[in-house]
Amino acid sequence: MNIIDGKQIAQKLRNDIAKKVEKLDRAPGLAVILVGDDPASTIYVRNKDNACKEVGFYSEKINKSANITQQELLDEVIRLNNDDKIDGILVQLPLPKHLDTNLVIETISPEKDVDGFHSENIGKLMQNKANLRPCTPKGVMTMLATTGIDLIGKDCVVVGASNIVGRPMAMELLNAGATVTICNSKTQDLSGKLQRADVIVVAVGVAHLIKGDWIKKGAVVIDVGINRLETGKLVGDVDFESAIKNAGWISPVPGGVGPMTIATLLENTLTAYQNRK
Ligand code: NAD
Repeated sequence: MNIIDGKQIAQKLRNDIAKKVEKLDRAPGLAVILVGDDPASTIYVRNKDNACKEVGFYSEKINKSANITQQELLDEVIRLNNDDKIDGILVQLPLPKHLDTNLVIETISPEKDVDGFHSENIGKLMQNKANLRPCTPKGVMTMLATTGIDLIGKDCVVVGASNIVGRPMAMELLNAGATVTICNSKTQDLSGKLQRADVIVVAVGVAHLIKGDWIKKGAVVIDVGINRLETGKLVGDVDFESAIKNAGWISPVPGGVGPMTIATLLENTLTAYQNRK
């Protein structure tokens, strides 16, 4: 059994980006907007800001009050769309309930949409013409590439069908030539489907949902889930202890997909910079 060490792969990606940035005549710029003071979001935004600094990017961390109006937030996005120092704009989700998340995402200029959530970028991913691709699924593809396993013709099961992870993840695997099954909370016989899978990607948000005996011997298992137990321990959606008995490759939580998401955000910001040049 092999561990897919997301922390190490992400560090290499960040080192490669830092080397490229040294040769540029202007630092790529990323703006991250945080609305309110949700503790998890605050940590994510801080981590993104630190990652930018580490690779030599220009970074703007914009904190807005939870009471911001829809128009004020849209105006901020439009200001950043028109700011030449900024190549990538990210609005940290979730937004407070009174704000229209979809409208905010659609207001981000598609060429600065480094989260890859704008309908234009999602549409291009569907057509296998993607340029800026959602960070978490793209990061998972980078992790899968390190295993050296050819995805063409493989049976892949994605558990979870959200707009930010499950759906784009399924499309990434399809674009790579795999046969893809997408499961959701209504799926019947989830374990039966998983038992036939060569590659499993789980993004649900339920601790220990996937049991070891649902995994085919030698399968690749990528765990996107992040769940905090009452003890404070951070775990994924896969029951890691039983899964390692069958998996050929497995990504841990923490230290798996999480660091890859941020490194891929930097990769996307560099792509956006290059496209804008
Ligand atoms: P979400 O709540 O938007 O979507 C969850 C999906 O899981 C839905 O499609 C739902 O139908 C499906 N689901 C729920 N119960 C199920 C069940 N019993 N069997 C099969 N499918 C089921 O969640 P999300 O935003 O996609 O995030 C999923 C998890 O991934 C969360 O734990 C989140 O914290 C984590 N996450 C991690 C990263 C990272 O960088 N590591 C990034 C994004 C999300």
